[in-house]
Amino acid sequence: MRTSEQYLEDLRSMRPNVYMGGEIVRRDDHLIIPGINVMRITFDMAGDPENSELFTATSPYTGEKINRFCHVSASVDDLLIKQKMIRTGARLSGFCIQRCMGTDTLNALSIVTKDIDDANGTEYYQRFLEFAKNYQKKDQIAAAVQTDAKGDRGKRPHEQVDPDMDVRVISQNKDGIIVKGAKQDITMASYCDELVVFPTRSLTSEEKQWAVAFAVPADWDRVHIVNRASAPRERKFIKAPLNTYGSSDALVIFDDTFVPWDRVFMCGEHEFGGRMALTFATCHRHSYCGCKPAVEDIIMGLIALTAEYYGVEGKPHVREKLAHLAGVAELIYAAGIAAAVESTKTASGTQFPGTIYANVGRRLAGENTYDSWGMVADIAGGFPVTMPFEEDYYHPEIGPLVNKYTVRNPAVSAENIHRLQRTLSDYLASSWAGVWQVADVHGGGSPAMETIAILGNYDFDERKRIIKRLAGIDD
Ligand SMILES: Cc1cc2nc3c(=O)[nH]c(=O)nc-3n(C[C@H](O)[C@H](O)[C@H](O)COP(=O)(O)OP(=O)(O)OC[C@H]3O[C@@H](n4cnc5c(N)ncnc54)[C@H](O)[C@@H]3O)c2cc1C
Repeated sequence: MRTSEQYLEDLRSMRPNVYMGGEIVRRDDHLIIPGINVMRITFDMAGDPENSELFTATSPYTGEKINRFCHVSASVDDLLIKQKMIRTGARLSGFCIQRCMGTDTLNALSIVTKDIDDANGTEYYQRFLEFAKNYQKKDQIAAAVQTDAKGDRGKRPHEQVDPDMDVRVISQNKDGIIVKGAKQDITMASYCDELVVFPTRSLTSEEKQWAVAFAVPADWDRVHIVNRASAPRERKFIKAPLNTYGSSDALVIFDDTFVPWDRVFMCGEHEFGGRMALTFATCHRHSYCGCKPAVEDIIMGLIALTAEYYGVEGKPHVREKLAHLAGVAELIYAAGIAAAVESTKTASGTQFPGTIYANVGRRLAGENTYDSWGMVADIAGGFPVTMPFEEDYYHPEIGPLVNKYTVRNPAVSAENIHRLQRTLSDYLASSWAGVWQVADVHGGGSPAMETIAILGNYDFDERKRIIKRLAGIDD
């Protein structure tokens, strides 16, 4: 397994193809480092004997000990432990642990490449296995490169005025394929090792050229990463762990990019486009059932500590909120457990989470995002978004007065109330918070996509039959 330092060294040796703020930047640019720091948690935890049970696994392909973020689930226990690991990781980073994007991509590829081979006699699964073994051995990080630019949302890929709006194959020869198009919102693209690309949606027989899945190193020739970094505000005086973490998302452009055949996992099998998209989505929505309870944990922690520091602990509206949030957190987590218990063994041997439970858990999380943050805003009061800048708390003349008038519960020091309110400010009123609140709605697919997955898989006729029997209707 890699150490954090080896990971950083590997990033530094990559070809510079990351654009940010109008220039090409190094992968260890100070704005990208907060995202890298989140990745470091995943290496450090796996390397720590005390956490190795949660953060490492045994590869079903090589029998070797690997980082669990590189693992392909082979049992119900694997799914349960993955979910628990993600909740633990997200609590540590203060928000998304991010690296499950690659985990879920690997799991989806392992399932669908085998299905395509079984149906068509192709050799994608063997290619995937070679890719996965190398990935696990090198303890790599992959970005899940799914969301296409898509163009006009009301039109299908083959109906777009510009056919490049969804990534497609423009030519192929005996060595490989040439792909063109762009994917948007790609988390970790600027600090991952591999970009794993696959379709966003189901595809028709007119859309074979868009039915493509492949992997390329993130610094591959003719790949451009246009990055957008976000992080809590940097601190000058009251440094805190939260303010060392962050994330990056990117527009990833494939500019007539060559991909050799041994890295191509789908090419033209339009009938498996939707299956690939949904298999990843279900695996990822199961991961959400681990990370969103962690976000609710953070929200509950902010509310409970704020109430204590403000002197309103135990007030009815605080208790009501905490009870509600505990319910939301644990119901999402319970849906993830149910998805693991109701999982199925696929032809490739990969354990696939139950679709209904993964989707209802993810949907519940998305629906509650803004309500939950609204509860934090209620208890936080107005001051966390109007408070003076950090320097004013430390100014020799005005600083003591600023501190004096910001104290609330006298049992809590001025510095601790300052620390809490600045953290509330980061979570409620920073550009970073805005990004993550939207991510909690759209990540893994918009709410409408979860609704479609639920409606497509849930047996409503069975419910009608219940009522017919109860009502004595016999048709
Ligand atoms: C912070 C963040 C990180 C992300 N990370 C990743 C990542 O790492 N990898 C990745 O692949 N993606 C990632 N995503 C993308 C995420 O999966 C998408 O945002 C999500 O799938 C929605 O797609 P969109 O943003 O293009 O929304 P849009 O498609 O523009 O949707 C906007 C609205 O239009 C509706 N709509 C769209 N099309 C239709 C239609 N045909 N019929 C009816 N209604 C429609 C939607 O339901 C929604 O209400 C990330 C997103 C965010 C915000």
